[in-house]
Amino acid sequence: MELYKLTAHELLEKIKKKETTSEQIVSDLTKRIKGVDVKVQAYVRASSSTLLAPDSKPNGIPVSIKDNICTDGYNTECCSKILQGFNPPYNATVISKIISSGNSFLGIKCNMDEFAFGSSTENSCFGPTHNPWDLNCVPGGSSGGSAAAVAADEAIWALGSDTGGSIRQPASFCGVVGLKPTYGRVSRFGLIAFASSLDQIGPLTKDVEDAALLMNTISGYDPQDSTSINTPVPDYTKALINDVKGIKVGIPKEYFVEGLDPEVKKIIEEAINKLKTLGAQFKEVSLPHSEYAVPVYYIIATAEASSNLARFDGVQYGLRAKAEGLVDMYKKTRSLGFGDEAKRRILLGTFALSHGYYDAYYLRALKVRTLIKQDFDHIFKDFDCIITPTAPTSAFKIGEKVDDPLKMYLSDIYTISVNLAGIPAISVPCGFTKEGLPVGLQILSKHLNEEMLFRLAYTYEQNTEWHKMKPKL
Ligand code: GLN
Repeated sequence: MELYKLTAHELLEKIKKKETTSEQIVSDLTKRIKGVDVKVQAYVRASSSTLLAPDSKPNGIPVSIKDNICTDGYNTECCSKILQGFNPPYNATVISKIISSGNSFLGIKCNMDEFAFGSSTENSCFGPTHNPWDLNCVPGGSSGGSAAAVAADEAIWALGSDTGGSIRQPASFCGVVGLKPTYGRVSRFGLIAFASSLDQIGPLTKDVEDAALLMNTISGYDPQDSTSINTPVPDYTKALINDVKGIKVGIPKEYFVEGLDPEVKKIIEEAINKLKTLGAQFKEVSLPHSEYAVPVYYIIATAEASSNLARFDGVQYGLRAKAEGLVDMYKKTRSLGFGDEAKRRILLGTFALSHGYYDAYYLRALKVRTLIKQDFDHIFKDFDCIITPTAPTSAFKIGEKVDDPLKMYLSDIYTISVNLAGIPAISVPCGFTKEGLPVGLQILSKHLNEEMLFRLAYTYEQNTEWHKMKPKL
């Protein structure tokens, strides 16, 4: 049986009818991973002894987990040398919730850019993941391993994290569904911090229904995360309504200008037309501070990262370099343990926070962040959602942007503002380029209105075939 090809909701149905068991699913999935992961390399430390967590439930569906989410008893290394051998003594809240919902998780973890710094998964200390649609291309990043695993049917569903686009952009590049929840909707407890005011965990799935199911499982208030929102979680599957008649959608004019690949633009316009014929109402809107999103993000995200990464010094976790004294040990450990991009971000962030520059850079970035958020608040007074491309291009070639960080940073131009504003957004497959590479459509809504995203995404999906396409491997 090729159970690995199915979605989680299809498998749950089969389990209910006693047509299959969790054990069969895991065994099928293991075979699939053994068969294709040599090419895709979506997982890291894949040779590790047990695939499935021992406390997993007999009827559950295994979730594949990004390497920055703590799993008790299974290494969690953020694909960084500095965390080599780190085996957390506790589970992240999302993992505890997965277990208590009756599901399970895989003990081998998904590849990612080191500490989630990147847009291509090339910054992993384990080497890059390959895009299942074209093995010479990147899967996007930083949750590239999770996205590629789902696209290659090496995962039933997966978790990633999104600080500036790291769930949505790889979802777009790999032709799967990816959701960044409202900031505070999903607990960050046990997610190794990159930029604490931006990070959110979210699902990467084969279809919209699975994303709703996984959101039902992982969402909710957590006293262990001080930024967690204490409001009830709706049943997101109730928002899977195949009807968008009368829904008001804004199209930001600033997103359809130079820099957007003409082929991607055409595919997005076709998707918009499709939703028009289904009854959604479109109107052009403006997000006047969009042009500042990338610089503001790279000041705030690096500032927070430089502070969060200070704890990795060779004393408490992972790698410890041999050295003469304590200071020398700190220096050598950090120099050996961090990759180039991590070092670049620590330097940038420390600079932006240093005396004399704090006001000029960091404080000013915080102010512009508020303006960016207000742009959205303003639009959501009159509109139910906003539609944009997820990324300006389809997947690029491995190696194409590694030497040009600024070019790499532009991959997230359409996703970053969402994190700065704290609002939710989803990416759904909406077509393919002539080269056969997937393209994603991004839908944004106001705080805690994930239901609107599900409704639009579900309607679009039910009336198109893109999510059913599979890469040849
Ligand atoms: N690509 C962006 C960055 O490099 C976003 C990463 C993320 O969302 N984790 O920071």
